[in-house]
Amino acid sequence: MSTHISENLNTIHNRINKACEKSNRDPKSVRLLLATKTVDSEKILYALNQGESLIGENKVQELTEKCTAIKELNPEVHFIGHLQSNKIKEVLKWASCIETVDRLELAEKLSQRLAFEEKEIDIYIQVNTSYEESKFGVAPEKAVELIKSVAEFKHIHIKGLMTIGLFSSEPEKVRKCFQLLKNIQEEATALNLPNVDLKELSMGMSGDLEIAIQEGATIIRVGTAIFGERIYPDSYYWNEGKNAD
Ligand SMILES: *Cc1c(COP(=O)(O)O)cnc(C)c1O
Repeated sequence: MSTHISENLNTIHNRINKACEKSNRDPKSVRLLLATKTVDSEKILYALNQGESLIGENKVQELTEKCTAIKELNPEVHFIGHLQSNKIKEVLKWASCIETVDRLELAEKLSQRLAFEEKEIDIYIQVNTSYEESKFGVAPEKAVELIKSVAEFKHIHIKGLMTIGLFSSEPEKVRKCFQLLKNIQEEATALNLPNVDLKELSMGMSGDLEIAIQEGATIIRVGTAIFGERIYPDSYYWNEGKNAD
């Protein structure tokens, strides 16, 4: 099991290096986030001991359980799942960045909680660049407006944008999603909003990380290619409660 993880990590770092070379980017400008949903703490610890330092969890219960188990290694933890307002308090215990802020009500509740705790946090705005019903994220046309509104909350620092690309065997369709995220980054950056520094683009996963790197990703989120196939379908993680709040 463990040898697989270390071989897989090697393969991923080679893929990152090659993609960077191809687009004249410094490999250090792309960080690998381990997408650890369904992966047990032992495997995560193993990967962290191989030199990895950034993980992302989708569900609050898994976040709490695993972060408790791995806390000695003190990884940087991002929340990358759909966040319901009633789970904010728990997420704030563990995550230093929430990559999935996609609506004003969530930012409002987050801001209230942060003020109460006298705490601040980094967030990314999640954009639904593939326009798929099944995915969360603000509509691309509304992204800049959301950024402007969220920028008003002093305890929240907008540090980037996040998206899940279209699942398609046609690379050019996938590329369009990443280009769209980049365009939103440029459009919003040109506004010079206080409290907004959109330097991070979190995009690209096991199947499309090369395209994402070519289009400017600074964080790629990889699960399957490191830890193997998951038993739960991703829909369980991605659109659970889609109409519930
Ligand atoms: C699961 C997940 C990933 C990783 O996907 P893989 O295809 O397993 O690499 C990336 N981002 C998010 C938001 C995820 O839920």
